[in-house]
Amino acid sequence: MSIDDYDERKRASARRYQENLHARGLCIRCRKPLEASRVHYLECEACSAVNRARSLERQKRLAERGLCVQCGVRQAMTGRKRCLICAAQAADADYKRRHGQG
Ligand SMILES: [Zn+2]
Ligand SMILES: [Zn+2]
Repeated sequence: MSIDDYDERKRASARRYQENLHARGLCIRCRKPLEASRVHYLECEACSAVNRARSLERQKRLAERGLCVQCGVRQAMTGRKRCLICAAQAADADYKRRHGQG
């Protein structure tokens, strides 16, 4: 069994585990029952707040360096938070969402 197989299996089992928790209405991180308003989410309010704070922190760091907050690799456009490519992707996703495709 190669390392790749092992890795893939580990990922698949982690996914199944998360799906199982989600199906039971539990947070995939802390495994506490999800609030009624959050049953469609994977994480409870507390875990999501931690995540949000972490990603805001990351965005701030990237923005300070003038990097795209989405990919974190390319330079952000002047006066924008995203690079050209990520901005185009976001606009595309937004368009599809609004027009009920994809
Ligand atoms: Zn949680
Ligand atoms: Zn980008």
